[in-house]
Amino acid sequence: MIIDGKKIAENLRETLKKQIEQIPSNQPKPGLTVILIGEDPASQIYVRNKEKFANEIGINSKVLRFDSSITEEALTKEIHKLNQDREVHGILVQLPLPKHINSKNIINQIEPSKDVDGFHPINVGNLSSGNDALVPCTPYGCYLLLKEVISDFNGLNAVVIGRSNINGKPMTQLLLKENCTVTITHSKTKNLKNICQGADILVASVGIAKLVKQDWVKSDCVVIDVGINRIEENGSKKLVGDVDFENVKDKVKAITPVPGGVGPMTISCLLQNTLKAYQKINSQK
Ligand code: NAP
Repeated sequence: MIIDGKKIAENLRETLKKQIEQIPSNQPKPGLTVILIGEDPASQIYVRNKEKFANEIGINSKVLRFDSSITEEALTKEIHKLNQDREVHGILVQLPLPKHINSKNIINQIEPSKDVDGFHPINVGNLSSGNDALVPCTPYGCYLLLKEVISDFNGLNAVVIGRSNINGKPMTQLLLKENCTVTITHSKTKNLKNICQGADILVASVGIAKLVKQDWVKSDCVVIDVGINRIEENGSKKLVGDVDFENVKDKVKAITPVPGGVGPMTISCLLQNTLKAYQKINSQK
């Protein structure tokens, strides 16, 4: 079975849109502000899509653009202004930042209740303590895709390839919370193929094109492919995941394609986090 991330992401946006439509007209709508620094082409596309989808479902979305020469101090001041702004419920700083700015310092300045990327240490800590948290969008999207095909996670063997702070580690926490037995692997892991062969759930977030092959997975495995790799094949450029999709798709129980799997879920989960932040901030007033 191919998991249709595009459709599932569309359905989620439709649900969020209906929830936002329920907000009385005398109340402010949820507000999301994205900070974009410099001219990185991929970041420009990501931010344009975030703004478009947010506005489509009724979130007031703004993009603050700054030249790549902005200092860490000036950027910090901008974030503090947004922290105080009552019309802003979600703040996202588009990564990567220019080399002279320390992204950890910047993320630490975001008010945790508005940290819709879920990267602030308070949200990271809450997620790993099993408390309510704003969860990073890509792993949360993976989790929602898994829930489409798995009704009972108890005791399943989950293998996560990659231990990044944005994907691998939070993914592990979400699977642990669902009572999976989780193995997290990385570049120093020995016998990766053997470990994957025991997986009921395999999440690949590596950045190596077509790393996972048919003989790495068992037939009842659910495979979630986070990787986005640009390759040239038969003279044409294409996007592929960390899993060799054509080689693996007919063997496993379910698999996400690239593109059209995890990618579309990331933005929908960002919008969900913005609505969640809005509801929480309003409930505390
Ligand atoms: P990252 O920060 O580069 O981390 C990659 C991880 O893979 C690291 O933990 C690394 O181990 C591990 N690794 C590298 N080579 C390995 C190997 N041969 N065997 C096992 N593990 C290995 O990557 P990321 O930010 O998680 O992103 C991973 C992929 O997801 C990229 O292709 C990225 O473009 C994509 N991505 C997709 C979305 C989406 O919305 N779909 C969002 C974000 C990222 P070490 O820790 O030991 O170095």
